[in-house]
Order: sequence, then structure tokens, then C-alpha cells
Amino acid sequence: MKPIVIIGAGLAGYTVARELRKLDQQTPLTLVTADDGAFYAKPTLSNAFALAKRADQLINQSAAQMASQLKATILTSARAREIDARHKTVVVDGKSLSFSKLVLAVGAQAIQLPIEGDAADQILSINHLQDYARFHEKLAAVKHNGAKRVAILGAGLIGCEFANDLARAGHAVTLIDPNALPLGALAPAALSQGLMAALQKEGVVMRLKNIAERVDVEGDALQVSLSDGSTLIADIVLSAVGLRPSVTLAHTAQLKVGRGIQVDAFGQTSEEDIYALGDCAEYAQPNGTSRMLPYVAPLMGAARAIGRTLGGQVTAIDWQPAPVIVKTPCFPLALIPPPPACPGQWQVTTENDKTVCRYLGANGVIHGFGVAPQDAASRQALAREIGTSLLAAQ
Ligand SMILES: Cc1cc2nc3c(=O)[nH]c(=O)nc-3n(C[C@H](O)[C@H](O)[C@H](O)COP(=O)(O)OP(=O)(O)OC[C@H]3O[C@@H](n4cnc5c(N)ncnc54)[C@H](O)[C@@H]3O)c2cc1C
Repeated sequence: MKPIVIIGAGLAGYTVARELRKLDQQTPLTLVTADDGAFYAKPTLSNAFALAKRADQLINQSAAQMASQLKATILTSARAREIDARHKTVVVDGKSLSFSKLVLAVGAQAIQLPIEGDAADQILSINHLQDYARFHEKLAAVKHNGAKRVAILGAGLIGCEFANDLARAGHAVTLIDPNALPLGALAPAALSQGLMAALQKEGVVMRLKNIAERVDVEGDALQVSLSDGSTLIADIVLSAVGLRPSVTLAHTAQLKVGRGIQVDAFGQTSEEDIYALGDCAEYAQPNGTSRMLPYVAPLMGAARAIGRTLGGQVTAIDWQPAPVIVKTPCFPLALIPPPPACPGQWQVTTENDKTVCRYLGANGVIHGFGVAPQDAASRQALAREIGTSLLAAQ
């Protein structure tokens, strides 16, 4: 029997495997991963510095433990390079592997900004456990006396989380972003302002409406030159400017690709028996649009559906509105960003000492929300409001 093959052993790949095994213990299963296959929760990477955790302390299970738990073969340090959709084979490091069904869970890659300077290649980004380990080592090796100076490029979700975490770990953090407010692309201004004030109280220096143009060596440290003509000195520069879905492998199979690998309501790509999910996928939405959703909750929903379908129970992805929790303890915030290019505006109210923002479209339909300080009750109630509002509008 040809195995089901999953490429990628991040949260997406492993969760599909787990869901499949709930229904089917027999079908041979092979996971292929370019990394060491250690299972960890990626969101912990941006709140582990304040807890003084090393990379190895974030690992829940090794690849060998996962292989035994999932009754699977896991090929580690192995890269899939080419898919032949017609003959149902995938080339992994020169060897051809046959599959009955294939799942692409290959994630995304950190965007590299076109920054000049003789130290531009020293800019780090953290999208994997190995990146976290490298950052940790570099930080430990910094010779500067006193607080270590970290410049973060990008005040989006990940940049703000790292800023809060590194500041709490005792580092001197500067946050640089072209927008006028942090979380500019995701959150309403009322919440972005609250987050900015809270981060500043933690000691984070904001250099907004600014772009880093150069990074150069300056003695033992780095000099960052900004678009407003000023410079700052940092021991480490961390880029958190976003991710680009990994689509190279999908192109080799001529799968339909937009920003990500396009999948239908079942998580199936344009080729039968090839599925995709997680940070590499662009999901068809019930309203006929498609969307990247690089967060854990959508990935879990997609994994449940794909796992069941692979196990013989064809299941569509259940698109329950799922809030993103921004892990900034200085300003606990949850939101569901409105879909891109969705016409509407933010309405801001204060309810039970919380700032509640609803994104209202035509006829008062709620397409998104933000709430701070957030807790489970408030974010779940607002998520239910979105569900009810969208249903009523149908
Ligand atoms: C710092 C940080 C904090 C975050 N915090 C949150 C949060 O609080 N809440 C939230 O909802 N989301 C959060 N996210 C996003 C969330 O973690 C991701 O959406 C999710 O982990 C993506 O999982 P994935 O399996 O799709 O991708 P990945 O984890 O990137 O896994 C991809 C896998 O594919 C493998 N691979 C890639 N190409 C190949 C190839 N050609 N051959 C073989 N293997 C290959 C890689 O080795 C890896 O195993 C955060 C992300 C980051 C970076």
C-alpha cells in the first residue's frame, strides 16, 4: 500500500497526522521534514525570552517520539524538491517516493528586506525553533555592558510580541515601523494606541513612520540608519516584517498558486489527492474569496477536516470565527482582523472596562473585532457575535 505522505512537520503537518490517526491506524504514513522534526508550539517562540527558556526547553517531543506515537516514518533533514502529480511521486533528496495522497504543510519563509550596509546579512529573523536558538546564542555572545540593545524591524503582531518579551527579559528594545502605530495593518487605532503606550511603559522605544535603510558594523555593535536620516546603535537587529508562503514545491506540480497554495473548502489543491494547509495555504472562503490565515486556529480547523478526509470521512473545513490572541502581556489584546479589502469602519465602545472595537460593514454586519484587555469570555462572546451577524446577513 502506498503511504500517505505529509511534507512538513510543523503544527500543520503534525496535526493532520494526529487527526488521521484518530480514524485510521493502518494506512502507512510518512512525514518528510527539512528540519529535525522536533515537535514544539511555534507561538511560544515570542514569549520565551522573558521566561529565560532555551530552544531545547521548548521542545515537547522529539521526531522519534512523534514517529512512534503516530505510527509513522519521519524523514528528518530531508527536503522534498519536486512533485509529479500525475504519477503520484515526490522527489526527496534525489529519491522518488510514491504516495496515495499528499499533504503540503511546508509553511512560510521570513521576508528579507532590501536593506543595504556591510552588516545587512547579520539581520536575524525568528520563524523556527532553530532561528530562536541562533538568536539566543547571538544575544548571549553580545559583549555590551548593561542592557543588550535589540532593534526590531516591523511593529506587526510578531514584532510587538518580541518587543514586549525582550523588554521583559531586560533588553533595551527599539521598534521600527513605517506605519504611524504598532499593529497598523491589523488592529483599530484605538487599540494600537493603547498597545503603543503600554509598550513604551515597558521601556520599548518607538521609531515609527521610519524604515531601516542600512545596517553597518560599528565597533562591536551595529548601526541602523533610518529613513528620517537618524541612526541608532544595536547589538542585534531582528526582522519581523512578515512571511512569504513557501510555494516553490507547489509550482513543480503546477498546482494553482495565488499568494499561497490555493485550496478548496476541503483543503484540496487544484490536483486531486494533494492537500495543503497552514502558513503555505490560501484557503477558499464561504463567501467566494480566498485568504491566507497564518495562525494556529485556522490551521487546526483545516487539519481536522483534512485528517478526517484522509481517514475516509470526507469533511469540509468548518470556518468558525477564531480570535488571534496578541501575546503582549503589557496590553492583552485579541482580535479577528476584517477580511482584506472588506468595506466598513471600526466602531469603538467601552464595555465592562474593556475597549471593544467592532468592524461594521454594510447593514451593520460585523466582519472583525478587537478587544483589550482581553479574556476568554470577552473574545468568545465577540467571536459568537460575528458568527451570528454573518449568518443573519446570508
Ligand atoms: C514567533 C511567532 C509567534 C506566533 N504566535 C502565534 C500566536 O500567538 N497565535 C497564532 O495563532 N499564531 C501564531 N504564530 C503563527 C503560527 O505559529 C503559524 O501559523 C504556524 O505555526 C504555522 O505552522 P506550519 O506547520 O504551517 O508551518 P511551519 O511551522 O513553518 O512548518 C513548516 C514545515 O515544513 C518543513 N518544510 C518546508 N519546506 C520543506 C520541503 N521542501 N521539504 C521538507 N520539509 C519542508 C519545515 O522544515 C517545517 O517542518 C506565530 C508565529 C511566529 C513565527
